[in-house]
Amino acid sequence: MRMQVKFLNGLNTIGGNVVSFTQGKTRLVMDFGVNFAPSETPTGDLLANGTLPDLPDLFTDVSSEYETTIFVSHLHLDHMGALKYLTKPIDVYMSQASADLYYVLTKLGIESAPYANIKVIDFEKPTSFGDFEVTFFETDHDARGAAAIRIRNGEHTVVHSGDVRLDGPHPERVNHWADVLRDENIDLLLLEGTEFSFDEANDIAHERYTEMSLQQNFAQILQSSEQLVVINPYERNIDRLVALQATVQANGREMRWDHQFATILLAVGMTDVKEIDWETVLAQPGHYVIQNHFNQLHDLDQFNGDYVYLHMNGEPLGEYDPRFAELSDYLTNNDVLFCSLGVSGHATPDDLVALAQHISAKKTVTWHSFKPEKEAKALREVGLNVYLPTKGETLNY
Ligand SMILES: [Zn+2]
Repeated sequence: MRMQVKFLNGLNTIGGNVVSFTQGKTRLVMDFGVNFAPSETPTGDLLANGTLPDLPDLFTDVSSEYETTIFVSHLHLDHMGALKYLTKPIDVYMSQASADLYYVLTKLGIESAPYANIKVIDFEKPTSFGDFEVTFFETDHDARGAAAIRIRNGEHTVVHSGDVRLDGPHPERVNHWADVLRDENIDLLLLEGTEFSFDEANDIAHERYTEMSLQQNFAQILQSSEQLVVINPYERNIDRLVALQATVQANGREMRWDHQFATILLAVGMTDVKEIDWETVLAQPGHYVIQNHFNQLHDLDQFNGDYVYLHMNGEPLGEYDPRFAELSDYLTNNDVLFCSLGVSGHATPDDLVALAQHISAKKTVTWHSFKPEKEAKALREVGLNVYLPTKGETLNY
């Protein structure tokens, strides 16, 4: 029996990377994201133009010759955004923390995938699917519950790194799975390369922030400002939200969340979560930190520009999103400085090279990057065997 590893999408984009593993009638698909799909575009067009992975039986009424199972390494849209396009019931495995978050996002209507049958797979518990065995390893990325995934067919081992960083709060998790895989002499490593996407010239000016330095910078701003502080973080980075509230409290202020964030935080087990009450905040703005989603930007009108605005990887995330210009115009018109306190969830190029070198797979594929060839070159320079597949290409193991 042979396992066919097919690269379906995301070979030179950041995210939307999809690979399938097929053996006999069993087909495993991981991850299941899309990069950018305007909501009004019909599914058929997204399939035809390659936004969705080329798996027509999952997105149309074409019947399937396979028993398909989907695996989601973490709950970012570029890794699970295609679930909502499914047209038949499919089991979708994710970690417990991802499933908890997915449940509340669905309850709030932020996610809706009626055919995704969500199932939990525990970390480091090898689980059989046909002739395959799949194991999730807890990792460090800016999404709680993120995993690296190992796939075996009894003979060969392939690993999907998922998104990963080594200067986050939990490098020991990454070092652990890297140690396990090094000892197993794996055949194929699919390694993300996000941070290879950018030009070095820009990088020199760009200081690398970490989750820890973000909290330090945040504390400093809280100490030096007497104004209301407004933060715009991303609702799926639960661990950062927990840390932000702790920093707020340690600096003598109180944290107030909007209804969606408060609902999510309560659902994932955070205590002492308080929703915004504008009257109390207006009475003593300098005592509070409020979280603001772009959807409710105009809630800030009532403060007449008298606040500090800290962007912390919330929506809109970057200039590619037209709402980003709207946000910066709004702040400029209100004489508010746009202050960016973002942190990358992705390993530095040096860390990626060290990680790949440590694991030393027989073959490494670089993807999830605008410049996979740049990552490939760096890995070849340290003696690794690197392969750059094309979209739709299949490797046999
Ligand atoms: Zn990603």
